[in-house]
Amino acid sequence: MDKLIHGTAADGTVRVMAAITTETVAEAIRRHQTSPTVSAALGRLLTGTLLLASGQKELDRLTVKIEADGAVEGITAEAGADGKVRGYVKNPYAELPPKENGKFDVSGIVGGGMFYVIRETGYDIGLYREPYVGSVPIVSGEIAEDFAYYLAKSEQIPSAVLLGVLLEKQAPFVKASGGVIIQMMPGANEHIITMIEDTISHAPHITSIINEGASARNLVKLALGEIDFEILEEKEVAFDCNCSFERAVSLISSLGREEVAAMLAEDKGAKMTCGFCNEIYTLDEADLQKMLETEKV
Ligand code: ZN
Repeated sequence: MDKLIHGTAADGTVRVMAAITTETVAEAIRRHQTSPTVSAALGRLLTGTLLLASGQKELDRLTVKIEADGAVEGITAEAGADGKVRGYVKNPYAELPPKENGKFDVSGIVGGGMFYVIRETGYDIGLYREPYVGSVPIVSGEIAEDFAYYLAKSEQIPSAVLLGVLLEKQAPFVKASGGVIIQMMPGANEHIITMIEDTISHAPHITSIINEGASARNLVKLALGEIDFEILEEKEVAFDCNCSFERAVSLISSLGREEVAAMLAEDKGAKMTCGFCNEIYTLDEADLQKMLETEKV
């Protein structure tokens, strides 16, 4: 099971979040049948979104949305404070040859565009609040750098963001996936910041140590080096969608009586695919008939 931790260091002036997301990203790839480069992009976004959503009080849902002018067109990830994440891409089949260094050309398929962060709170207690929306232009397209730019620019939190997905040719296609975010909060001292920057610049790539069995805690150590840290929370994370057959029924009934009657007459049923997880819900004649008889529509 994938795990995420969040904690603090240097008397609370440094916040750390780290996660292993190997199974989470494998499930996303299985559901969306993404090309290798899109898989890397989606995996990084899912991981970054989970990390950003962790440790936030009263958060119901955090959505990170990339509107891209490159071939992938768009990527969306949505995470809750409960460690569940779901996401999708507009063009799962976009692909480009690898870069000269052999890495996936994620910035190539993303191109330019906008990076949005939407925070929603209050639903759980029946309170509606205007969602908080922050946005920055895409500066890199490699995604980790875009998270860092967003945090620095829009939330004024200087951050180091490491996200990585290591793929393999056979199913489940993901060998290792994970990420770390280190945030310098107000009051963080220069010496600590320099130490962290130095540690990160000399650290091995995170996917290579995840592949060797590293835990989320090991990822924090990799980024903080000798600096002690305290873990505030540890939780399981997974790709999980809140769609259901009941929800599909209520969506179809919302199309109206005429539309449902037409589906029954012409198609003898209805099919609905969840955009977030690609689950297909099939309503047969009896389901539609029941909908019309019970005057649910
Ligand atoms: Zn779904």
